[in-house]
Amino acid sequence: MLTMRTSELFKKKTVFSVEVFPPKKTGTMENVIRALRIISGISPDFVSITCGAGGSGGSSTSDVCSVAKDAFDLETVAHFTCVNMTAEKCREELEILSRKGISNILALRGDITDKSKFYDFMHADELAAFVRAERPEFGLLGACYPEGHVQAPSIDADIDNLRFKIDAGVDHLISQLFFDNAKFFSFMDKLRAKGITVPVEAGIMPVLNASQIKRMVSMCGSSIPYELARLISLYGENAADMEKAGIDYACAQIEGLLAGGADGIHLYSMNRGDVAAEVFGRVRR
Ligand code: FAD
Repeated sequence: MLTMRTSELFKKKTVFSVEVFPPKKTGTMENVIRALRIISGISPDFVSITCGAGGSGGSSTSDVCSVAKDAFDLETVAHFTCVNMTAEKCREELEILSRKGISNILALRGDITDKSKFYDFMHADELAAFVRAERPEFGLLGACYPEGHVQAPSIDADIDNLRFKIDAGVDHLISQLFFDNAKFFSFMDKLRAKGITVPVEAGIMPVLNASQIKRMVSMCGSSIPYELARLISLYGENAADMEKAGIDYACAQIEGLLAGGADGIHLYSMNRGDVAAEVFGRVRR
């Protein structure tokens, strides 16, 4: 069992990881456990467990972290958001995670909903600095945006803000999902030119159905290249065909990223353990 900062992993190899989300209000833990069981079969370097929109997923994030670690021996990263988070609550949750043997945090601002409130932290770098001060032994991850964050005035301004996270102690970045590798590599060139040298995992989401992806891109602003738009218009009406085409596209995208020297691949699994297993089964070396 790994008990190190995730950033250490990159010294030896290309890193493969999978994002899992806790049960939604209408979902059950059984579905999450089923996904984790399949994912554990492909031995990812770690799984990351999301925190519900509005920061409401606190306890179930740590519950799923426990299951991943104790039942499936998976290294886990817990997502923490500034939204609805006080310094006191953060301290308590860090203590809970520490007792569970979980020592990596992805520090985020959080998606903003009409229920979101900010208390002690406005931006991810402030949360990261707090975690670093409270728990210097923890690994600290942060998010980055190959096409710029939707609220940033420009990609350069967004990268300048990203520097605050690095200065606060973030030593491993995971990118927002994207579908155009050229945009990712151009972003990497900009990061390195601005002296940000921490490892960056490329975030990949297989397109499994057309409406899901339209919803995602409307939230996160990722662009859809012509080739993918063509697949969606050809297969979008047929679930099985869309899924096959989406998995093929994700695998081709990952092959291109690995060939171009990406540090790692983070798969947004949408709790589809079978899809994660197929994608990583095909591309992992
Ligand atoms: P920040 O780094 O705070 O950036 C937000 C905006 O503010 C950007 O435009 C940035 O340029 C600007 N900015 C940053 N720092 C400063 C500063 N110090 N001063 C002024 N401006 C600044 N959301 C959830 O709710 N739960 C999750 O589990 C979750 N997991 C995610 C995992 C990954 C890998 C990614 C990429 C995103 C995830 N999100 C999640 C979504 C994320 O919360 C949103 O994208 C959010 O809008 C921004 O989060 P951030 O941590 O990048 O914020």
